[in-house]
This record gives sequence, structure tokens and C-alpha cells, in this order.
Amino acid sequence: MATPAQGIARLGFRTWYERQLIQSHVHFITGFLCAVLIMALMEDLNLRRPEPMSWASLAMIVVALLIGAVSIHRYLRMLGRAEMLAEQCVCPGCAVYGLIRVLEMGVVEADEHPQWMRVSCKKCDQQWRVESI
Ligand SMILES: [Zn+2]
Repeated sequence: MATPAQGIARLGFRTWYERQLIQSHVHFITGFLCAVLIMALMEDLNLRRPEPMSWASLAMIVVALLIGAVSIHRYLRMLGRAEMLAEQCVCPGCAVYGLIRVLEMGVVEADEHPQWMRVSCKKCDQQWRVESI
């Protein structure tokens, strides 16, 4: 899986950002559909029966819960990272948004390995550092 810096260097910031938004919302929709599936399967629950729910329904609820939790986690992480980078991709020299060229990139040796990029504006060649999680 490519890092944000590799993706931005390959696609350009605006295309990378658009793809991040699309992919993160696919994760959101997956999480939402899992929530709907869980609610539909809960219709099978009847506490008056000796066995309140079939094992198949219970297994599907557990699987949907796991897939939904992972999907919502990925949605929040991907969207948060894209927004964090978007806020930093305004040129401090001419205030143009998203027209950057990646000059160099690296990983900070810390807990979650945040990444950094040295970028320059395609319009005025101003350089600055951008960091992401
Ligand atoms: Zn600029």
C-alpha cells in the first residue's frame, strides 16, 4: 500500500485527495450496510423462545459487527488523514490550493510512524513541509 506521499507524488494532490474521499466513503457505506444488516438480523430475536436466536443469525451479526467496525475505523482514519493533508496543502506564498510537487518524503520514527513530505508550489515554487499520520 502506497503512503500518502507516494500517492500524491504519482497522482498529484487533487486526484489523490478525490480518490481518498471516494475510498473512505466506500468504507462508510460498508459500515452503514453492516449496521442495517445487524438491525435486520435482530428481527429474528425472540426472548420468549427457549433458543432466542438461530446460531446462523448470531454468527452473521458477529461477522457484520466486525466488518462494520473495521470499515468505520478505516473511514475515519482515511478521511482524517486526507483532511489533515488538505489543510496543509495551501501554498504559504500565493495561497493556491493543492498545486504541489513532492520534492522528498520520509517517515518519522515515532509511535504511529507519521510521514512527512517536502513540497513546493507549482505556481510560485515556495517550499514547505507537510506532515500526516
Ligand atoms: Zn505558491
